Amino acid sequence: MTALWTSQELRDATQGTLAADVSVTGISIDTRTLKLGDLFIALKGETSDGHAHIAQALEAGAACVMVHDTQGSTDPRLLIVADTMSGLEALGRYARDRFDGKVIAVTGSVGKTTTKDMLRTALSALGPTHAAVASYNNHWGVPLTLARLPRDARFCISEVGMNHVGEIAPLAAQVRPDVAIITTIGTAHLGHMGSLEEIAREKATLFGALTENGTAIVPDDAIGQDLFRAALPAHAKLWHSGLSTNSEIRLTGLVCTADGSDFVLTLPGVGDISVHLNAPGRHLARNAALALGAVAALGENVSKASHALADFVPGAGRGQMRAVLNGVQLLDESYNASTTSIRSTLETLALLPAKRRIAALGDIRELGAFADAEHRSLADAVIAANAIAFCCGEHMRALYEALPEALRGAYAPDSRSLAPLLLNALRPGDLLLVKGSLGSRMRDVIAALDNAS
Ligand code: ATP
Repeated sequence: MTALWTSQELRDATQGTLAADVSVTGISIDTRTLKLGDLFIALKGETSDGHAHIAQALEAGAACVMVHDTQGSTDPRLLIVADTMSGLEALGRYARDRFDGKVIAVTGSVGKTTTKDMLRTALSALGPTHAAVASYNNHWGVPLTLARLPRDARFCISEVGMNHVGEIAPLAAQVRPDVAIITTIGTAHLGHMGSLEEIAREKATLFGALTENGTAIVPDDAIGQDLFRAALPAHAKLWHSGLSTNSEIRLTGLVCTADGSDFVLTLPGVGDISVHLNAPGRHLARNAALALGAVAALGENVSKASHALADFVPGAGRGQMRAVLNGVQLLDESYNASTTSIRSTLETLALLPAKRRIAALGDIRELGAFADAEHRSLADAVIAANAIAFCCGEHMRALYEALPEALRGAYAPDSRSLAPLLLNALRPGDLLLVKGSLGSRMRDVIAALDNAS
């Protein structure tokens, strides 16, 4: 196996000391998932300190352990640095500098992981592709993704996240993307951020790190178009993606069925291509437009990438569709929720054929003082989808009470007490959406459905 990091590169990148001659094939920050040949980085978090696991990491087969406190060990495989977090960032910067493939960065209020996974599926058909694991998009996730970048990769996809103002710029500077995508500007983390404009301004700082001739891609209907233009460096271009006739990346003719989504994309330098995704979803089509737009921006083979994308499967709880109980179609969106994503999944629900539409909705977290108003604002979308609502959680009560009587299924304080009410009401031919923030535990509803199936 080609070394990901040689001893000399580890020393050069971190300015640390390392006595042994090692060959590192992977990077780990958790001994429970450490693999033979990994460099284990002893990060110090708020509740745990990797320095407590140095011996354990070496016993588990780590080739090398990065530390800033040897804990009395004299093992020659210790890479001793001033600070392990800075050491990880240094590895990320070094890996980015030595990489001569293309880098794509994805940020946005929702849709980052889905778009990143779509890019991984699409670009893997064109060459070796490296992408962030799960939602590794923060101050350690981004440098870790870069530090793991294999030297023979052609494409690297990084997710860039934020909870507070000022978090994107330092991460963007590490990633230096050739294509920078904003998936959505929505109300995730509104409690910390104050306004949608502030969110758009913060996300747009990603563009400041675009490489020469780089491309920024934004949804054409997002708030903050002026901010996007203002944040764009002179050496980069801006493409819009969506339904508008003026957009560089244009999505038309979307049809969703239980078998998936079909639509046409019009792309610069490519023209029209028909795209099929194996999962239904208006937002999935929009994310696919962003992903294939990025492929076009890189001048790569869009047709080949779009064929590969047909096999894309959404992650667990992020839009998988399956049959449960006796003839009920479940759209499992139980992983997470924001106002934006609930609205878009209700739109998907409305596009799908069904005898009855039912939406089981749990609270959206992190909305601060906006919580009740944001929940209530979803009433129009529930009504437009003609969905019978089964709501749980403190703030979902505001939505439930804003609905007409005919669309009120039931209200319960939490997901566990909602599940039996929902199960009791379901009938063959129903189309059921289950969605809520992670902390609302809508996965308990999914488990109850599975147990009863
Ligand atoms: P996290 O950081 O919490 O993982 P994320 O930004 O990575 O969030 P995803 O996991 O891709 O977001 O998607 C989360 C949910 O957001 C999906 O299940 C879907 O309901 C919704 N969603 C995804 N993409 C979009 C989009 N383009 N527009 C609106 N909603 C979307």
